[in-house]
Amino acid sequence: MLHLIPRPLKAEELSGKCRLPEAVAVNSPFEEWSLSAFSERIKRPLTDGEWLTVTKDPALPEEEYRLHIRPEGITVTASSETGVIRALTTAAELCEEDLFPCCLIEDEPKYAHRGLHFDCSRHYFPVEEVKRVIEEISLCKMNVLHWHLTDDQGWRIESKKYPLLHETSGKWYTHDEIRDIVEFARLRGIEVVPEIDMPGHMTALLAAYPQYSCTGEKVSVGKRSGIYPIILCGGNEEIFPFLEEILCEVIPLFPSERFHIGGDEAPKSRWKKCPKCAVKMKELGLTAYEDLQGTFTARINDILKKHGKTAVCWHETLKAKNCPENIQIQHWTPMCAKQTKAYADEKKGKWIYSNTLGTYLDYPHSVTSLKKIYHTQPIFDKVSYAGDENLLGFECCIWTEHVPDRERLETRVFPRAQALAEAAWSGAGDYEDFRCRLKKTMQHSLHRDIFYTPEDWWDPRGFAAFKEAFRYFVTMNRALFAK
Ligand SMILES: [Zn+2]
Repeated sequence: MLHLIPRPLKAEELSGKCRLPEAVAVNSPFEEWSLSAFSERIKRPLTDGEWLTVTKDPALPEEEYRLHIRPEGITVTASSETGVIRALTTAAELCEEDLFPCCLIEDEPKYAHRGLHFDCSRHYFPVEEVKRVIEEISLCKMNVLHWHLTDDQGWRIESKKYPLLHETSGKWYTHDEIRDIVEFARLRGIEVVPEIDMPGHMTALLAAYPQYSCTGEKVSVGKRSGIYPIILCGGNEEIFPFLEEILCEVIPLFPSERFHIGGDEAPKSRWKKCPKCAVKMKELGLTAYEDLQGTFTARINDILKKHGKTAVCWHETLKAKNCPENIQIQHWTPMCAKQTKAYADEKKGKWIYSNTLGTYLDYPHSVTSLKKIYHTQPIFDKVSYAGDENLLGFECCIWTEHVPDRERLETRVFPRAQALAEAAWSGAGDYEDFRCRLKKTMQHSLHRDIFYTPEDWWDPRGFAAFKEAFRYFVTMNRALFAK
């Protein structure tokens, strides 16, 4: 039996084994970078020859591939470098002690978007850790790292124009480090979508440049979790050239065609008391403060469009009646299900599914078990949207308010990210079969460097599980209401 995560569409085991040679002789019409992760994973140099033969079939979709392993070598068919990467990821996962089982695999993903959202603002994680996470998610054929780089608790992107932005927060990624991470991800077929969350979740920026809030009051970089009331002013025109300069610095670091601009949890209490916001509302003829956020989103969206980028927003953005069209929406809380549903049904807008209880990995396993993640389904008003043509895919999220270190991070993310990855690549199947493949996969040498939750805690029950869940909610509430 082939132990693969995610489960391939079609897999046939053939008799015999194929031995990995000392150097891999390759013949491929694709760019050489598509082979580099494979070469690293199997720890072999590449030379010219025919042991690994890659053929181009332009009729195949971008990520679809065929992989044929015979005793004398490996044949891969794909239409793109990404397809080659997916095929060779499968091959690397099958290789044990320098032997591959002979087989014929035809495989393609169910959804185009299979992502992990990684919060590096609440806690900063070093470059090598971000790369370790990227390598692990690429092994289960995820293709998006949604990188949450700014929030109330930290601005993690170096700014050459406004160095106070990152210096005030203390820890950040330099432009060179970001380019290095983005390239590492590209070689693994992973798109890095950066997020600068606005107009809420902006305390780190306002700690450096307080003049952009409604009151201009001095604030410190956030330390507690929860929703912060002070956000960017909705009526200050100077904000737009300022944000445009910041975006112009960040955009060239990320080749992705998408840019996430947050838009979630932006309380309007300050806007309602602000004379500048009031003037702006009057000028625009608006009556609802949510629509002032809609105007803000539209202005930022225009800046992004000038640079050829599509904006992605959390779904609260849709509370504005004047929310711009042709953005992508990321659904996360059942409280806004109505808006997401309407966006999908009426606007035919593109959206991503990240529902809290089905995809949030900061919850312990006793709250969101492996099985729950595996069976996560986009359901609105009891109707499944799994087949909606505008659903781009699934994304799981790790928020790091309570994730201070590498071990907590990795055991929270893995192997639940694998469950989400299979749900998004293959569609959820027989759960026991998945668990059995997963157990074997996580023991493979490719996963040796990662901490992951042990099997006996994947679906915890009983008093120990109750205790863990209880302790988690107490800690979370204490943190939320701390001053
Ligand atoms: Zn204001």
